[in-house]
Amino acid sequence: MEKSLKWFWKHRSVVLCTLAVFFTCSATNTAESLASVGVGGTRRRNDLAPLVGKGLRFSGLSFRIALFADLHYGENAWDDWGPKQDVKSDKVQSIVLDNEMPDFVIYLGDLITANNLPIHNASLYWDRAISPTRGKGIPWAILFGNHDDASFEWPLEWFSSAGIPDVHCPFAGGKSCSFRGTMRMELVKEEIENNILSHSQCGPTELWPGISNYILQISSSKDPDLPSVFLYFLDSGGGSYPEVISFAQVKWFKEKSRTINPDARIPELIFWHIPSKAYKKVGPHPKSRIRSPCSGSINDEEVASQDVEWGMIDVLINRSSVKAVFVGHNHGLDWCCPYKSLWLCFARHTGYGGYGNWARGARILEMKEDPFTLTSWLRMEDGSSHSYVKLSP
Ligand SMILES: [Zn+2]
Repeated sequence: MEKSLKWFWKHRSVVLCTLAVFFTCSATNTAESLASVGVGGTRRRNDLAPLVGKGLRFSGLSFRIALFADLHYGENAWDDWGPKQDVKSDKVQSIVLDNEMPDFVIYLGDLITANNLPIHNASLYWDRAISPTRGKGIPWAILFGNHDDASFEWPLEWFSSAGIPDVHCPFAGGKSCSFRGTMRMELVKEEIENNILSHSQCGPTELWPGISNYILQISSSKDPDLPSVFLYFLDSGGGSYPEVISFAQVKWFKEKSRTINPDARIPELIFWHIPSKAYKKVGPHPKSRIRSPCSGSINDEEVASQDVEWGMIDVLINRSSVKAVFVGHNHGLDWCCPYKSLWLCFARHTGYGGYGNWARGARILEMKEDPFTLTSWLRMEDGSSHSYVKLSP
């Protein structure tokens, strides 16, 4: 008994933090599952509502979204160069937001470079990444990339020729030493708890430790209960998790989309971080010119696709309501290409962290409500815009 009390006292911060994370996110999921059952097992209109995050709505003629991809805050956090990059990333975000005045921002993964952060609480950098949007009072949502909860890698220059120094973990001797980072769940939980403008969610428990799997509804200007568009977020892994959209996620998508949009009447847009192999199939040959019907301005590297795939793209191309998929990850690609009935699009490298020196910018999406149309373009750090493309009939 005395031994276990001692253990608890030694590890109290880890235990309490883990419990807090569990209760915050399990409360959301319990509410969701109770609401989705409905009275007597029959689904009523209002029972559907808590299945998806609400609160976004067409207010005028259109709804505009800015995609911020691959910001990579916290790069080289131990020297001058890294923090200077972060200042420049703040500036890119502000310029895009001032020029576009979007209704919503989607952070498309790799907000931070956790493998460059020698601190346990990467939430500090995460908070910095979302602060330009929060500062302007614009709501947002996030999904995870492959760098957001990656383990810290010790830079080689830290090791002297005399030998490798002792590792100093935040909780010396504890199991947390093996990870040396901040878990996906802690990052998103901190964000949700501290930001009323955040629409991010922890995702269903059956898909954990993949976290950013959830749906948001953009409601009609005529009726806040009436969906006009559904946004689906999927966690394509990386970091502490394999780079994959799993069979369980495919099953979840099929079930959820069938429930909330049974006749596929409502347009649907899909967001994740690491491109599917289908991008290789439809995209221009690496380093060649981008020709019509594709649209974009840089095609300077090969598509770096997910490790393994479990049929997500096949499900999407057979669903008429899905209009487009948006990914980040490749900093040297920014094109959109049609694939059967939908479009596969890259965002644009937004942050100064991460590899490559291509000019920074953001992909913008603009939707009109009735009839539904979707157009997109790239807004650059110098204020210019280009690569306009219509992504709906
Ligand atoms: Zn990246």
